[in-house]
Amino acid sequence: MTATLLDGTATARAIRDEIKLEVDVLVAKGVRPGLGVLLVGDNPASAVYVRGKTRACEEAGIHHETVQLPSTATTGDVLASVAGFNERADIHGILVQLPLPPQVDAERVLGSVEPAKDVDGFHPENVGRLVQKRPRFVPCTPAGIMELFSRQGIAVSGRRAVVLGRSDIVGKPMALLLLHADATVTICHSRTRDLPAVVREADVLIAAIGRSGFVRAEHVKPGAVVVDVGISRVEDPEEARALLDDARMADFSKKGYALVGDVHAPSVRDVAGALTPVPGGVGPLTIAMLLKNTVKAARASL
Ligand code: NAP
Repeated sequence: MTATLLDGTATARAIRDEIKLEVDVLVAKGVRPGLGVLLVGDNPASAVYVRGKTRACEEAGIHHETVQLPSTATTGDVLASVAGFNERADIHGILVQLPLPPQVDAERVLGSVEPAKDVDGFHPENVGRLVQKRPRFVPCTPAGIMELFSRQGIAVSGRRAVVLGRSDIVGKPMALLLLHADATVTICHSRTRDLPAVVREADVLIAAIGRSGFVRAEHVKPGAVVVDVGISRVEDPEEARALLDDARMADFSKKGYALVGDVHAPSVRDVAGALTPVPGGVGPLTIAMLLKNTVKAARASL
């Protein structure tokens, strides 16, 4: 069996085309959606992510502004920048790019974002609303995965879902969304005993642990839907050879690096029924959902 490739790029394209039309409608009503981005420090991956998000805003006609603070910024500095965005009528969504430097109190910062502008869905009020199944803003990565399921006709109701990873950003909200869609959900983490046996029960498996190629064929139930959230950069040729197929290895040799997921795609695609690729799977969906949440925030401000 060769798994069907779930094309996140194409699905994200379709979502972004719809968003563009929604932006046009809002602009005609006198409101251009606006996103305020806060980037603290000089983490190169964060800078790449922010560039991807702001480029997508431009393409959709969403206004965006980025405040950049040095890696020495204090919690007070970051709180002041969030407060600036909170007060602005033309900024409907606020994104604090994570991770924040260690001296900054991330919990306080995320809790200071006006809940009506919290397009990442990390504010405790929005987390609580999600838990109670009356969501306002759902974190973008799990929301994108549910959107992919719905657009690709993948039903989760009544099926066994396993979420590998329990972060506030991906694992926990993912598990809640699957539960609310009537899946039977198990969350695995670094303390899970006999993890391969638990993961093998999954009809739907979401891997979000940040360990390149961790999920191998022996973890996967034949025919399962496997979603690979992980993104790791591999630069070591020996590690790359163990993780990539020949085609991707050729690309690695040209570029000197490759982005890989938590799933060992070359072996898992022979067992799974469907699989999201890395890159081109969950990443583009995450960006599309950020735009969607920003437009939703702008619409709510009318
Ligand atoms: P995180 O905060 O580091 O959480 C990782 C989770 O994985 C933790 O719950 C941890 O368990 C668990 N874990 C780690 N090693 C494990 C192991 N060997 N066995 C079982 N569980 C293990 O990570 P995150 O923010 O959720 O991100 C996960 C991955 O997704 C990263 O690669 C990240 O770059 C990627 N990501 C991608 C997108 C996207 O748009 N595609 C968005 C967000 C994140 P404990 O809790 O027990 O420590």
